[in-house]
Amino acid sequence: MGLPAGQANDAGESRKALRPLRTMAIRFSLTFVILRALLFAALVAVFRPAFAAPVPPTALPFMLKEVGQGVYAAIDGPEHKAGSNAGFVIGDDGVLVVDSFFTPDAAQALVGEIHRLTAKPIRYVVNTHYHADHTGGDQALRDAGAIIIAHRNVRSWVRTNNINLFGDRITPELKARIAALPLPDLTTDKDLVVWLGSRKVVVRTVLGHTGGDLTIFVPDAKVLFCGDMLWRKVAPNLIDGSVKEWAATDADFMAMPDAAHVHYVPGHGDVADVKDVEEFRGYLLDVQHLVTEGRQAGLKDDALTQAVAPRLKALHPDWAISDRAAAAEIRYMNEELAGTKRRPVPVDSE
Ligand SMILES: [Zn+2]
Repeated sequence: MGLPAGQANDAGESRKALRPLRTMAIRFSLTFVILRALLFAALVAVFRPAFAAPVPPTALPFMLKEVGQGVYAAIDGPEHKAGSNAGFVIGDDGVLVVDSFFTPDAAQALVGEIHRLTAKPIRYVVNTHYHADHTGGDQALRDAGAIIIAHRNVRSWVRTNNINLFGDRITPELKARIAALPLPDLTTDKDLVVWLGSRKVVVRTVLGHTGGDLTIFVPDAKVLFCGDMLWRKVAPNLIDGSVKEWAATDADFMAMPDAAHVHYVPGHGDVADVKDVEEFRGYLLDVQHLVTEGRQAGLKDDALTQAVAPRLKALHPDWAISDRAAAAEIRYMNEELAGTKRRPVPVDSE
């Protein structure tokens, strides 16, 4: 199509007069077309994640938070559908995932989010410890291509000791699921460095929560995935723990270089800073101190719980401490102080 008939029939003079205007108009419309194309490209870039994601973010059982460049914390939602926190690190040539939640559905949703954010392959999942609320989705990660890395004790505990974790809440379905949990592919009782291309990820063995605990540190982003060595404003589960060792590990977290700028990702609760680590360590020491006092006053069993639980709650009014959790903490602390605490026993596997 040419110019409109009226313009095409114009006399030469008026055509000449119009030429600069027409040139301007063509230039303007070209600029407009280019701008529109750029705007469209920008919109596609912004909304591409939404197009690629079958699950809207509000339907996810966790909240994804970028805590460093390419480092994400996946924080369990308010309904606790994921069961715990997880996270992942995107490196040059692949992705390392930290923990896999409790449910395979939540782990599958995490895999979906990773694929939405990067085309790089999922290469590893590191379990911070054997508890099923952190390892329950391992198979989904393995199916997505990950090698499962864990403390050596996880291999001997993940299918057996998890039964104890649920106590009287265990069901036949849960028993079957625990018995089918995948065993880790790569186990260690020493610190490890995992390289994602040029990106360094440091896996450390630590003491306190189960006897088979790992933390995952990303030095270039100052992010420490603490697993259940840290809980933020939630009463911790002491079932397999040693409060003495645990408080020492949290003191080490606080003494990290440049701790004021470290992002600490807890096993439960929101992303934390060094003050939260101090508060959590204070909570552990309060449990220890209050139970010690109760024991010195000759209190035991229910009387000990009745004396200690209200004082513990009063010291931490903004914490989520259920009666059941408080009673369990006091019982386990009492056993630790009495020297009768049963902890998972390392199996000397080859
Ligand atoms: Zn745990």
